[in-house]
Amino acid sequence: MQIPISSVKFDSETENAVLSVLRSGNIVQGEKVEEFENIFSQHFDFTHSVAVNNGTSAIVAALRACGIGSGDEVITSPFTFVATINAILEVGASVRLVDIDPDTYAINPDEIKKAVRNNTKAVLPVHLFGHCAQIEEIGRMCVDHGLYLIEDCAQAHGAKYYGEYAGSFGVGCFSFYATKNLAIGEGGMVTTFDDQINENLRLIRNHGMKERYQYEVPGSNYRMTDVFAAIGINQMSKIDDIIKKRRSNAAFLSSNLSDIEEISLPVERDNFYHSFHQYTIRVNGNYRFNREYLRGFLNSCGVSTGIYYPRQIQDYECFAQDPRVSSDETPNAKSAAAEVLSIPVHQDLSEQDLWTIVRSVRAAFNR
Ligand SMILES: *Cc1c(COP(=O)(O)O)cnc(C)c1O
Repeated sequence: MQIPISSVKFDSETENAVLSVLRSGNIVQGEKVEEFENIFSQHFDFTHSVAVNNGTSAIVAALRACGIGSGDEVITSPFTFVATINAILEVGASVRLVDIDPDTYAINPDEIKKAVRNNTKAVLPVHLFGHCAQIEEIGRMCVDHGLYLIEDCAQAHGAKYYGEYAGSFGVGCFSFYATKNLAIGEGGMVTTFDDQINENLRLIRNHGMKERYQYEVPGSNYRMTDVFAAIGINQMSKIDDIIKKRRSNAAFLSSNLSDIEEISLPVERDNFYHSFHQYTIRVNGNYRFNREYLRGFLNSCGVSTGIYYPRQIQDYECFAQDPRVSSDETPNAKSAAAEVLSIPVHQDLSEQDLWTIVRSVRAAFNR
């Protein structure tokens, strides 16, 4: 039995909640969606939460609600899941990729500053693996240059900076895909403190309709179903425990792996609260025992691993060739893509699993 890299479990309460929605006959966006939005806002201190059908739609809807489209440029990270980039291209905007911080893997504010141009409309930091980007510097820069701040929070439910949750600094975009810390299957949420953006989001999500057949703007269908919202409501009651367990698993791994100089461990900066969507180590490329070696070794010990992400965005032909995608020099993103390896940290690991992971990593380096 392999120790999996992620785990999804639903309890009987969740099963019953889904059944009662199915039996009610009201399965499209309705009461349960509204309840889920309210719980999400209350829990994380957001002014408005707007549920959508997935995390990619959340980013697309956020960009559209800010009026970003053709001719506009959005600055983001080359070291992310492709959805971030696809969402920007989907609204017709262009993408400017700038380098990351090698310790947190999030976009580097100094690099953003150098990249801002006349047609720059937004900065889209990704709070990768559950560690927030340097949101204070980025937010200040956005205010100075009149740019929208759109946060990719797909991996950062419950992550904090100075006690404030990811998604409360700009327009927050969450995913509830099956592997995320808050898992529904498919789903997303957009959060904002801005009343106008909230209103735009609610219109865009439902074909621009204020009332039936009264169209205010061209929109789309990004609606969430009540079935998925019912699952989301139940998952919300567990999210704090999920993150606590992930953090204590991460602390256990770090305290037992810190003496291995061939690898570097995840960093939690002062005043940041890591939600550990992933526990990502780096295998120093200068050693004989490189990432591929460690991955193979752990696999043979029954420990699954993941490489998030094996290449930076501009190293894919389809993006390199796309005239709407431009990139600066990104040496930190390039070396991260070559060295990162995520090992299991999820909430369903047993104590025995944790020891198996620790012993296997240690054995790989003859410790
Ligand atoms: C998962 C993810 C998304 C997209 O979310 P979906 O719900 O899968 O559409 C966007 N950005 C990042 C960084 C992600 O990890």
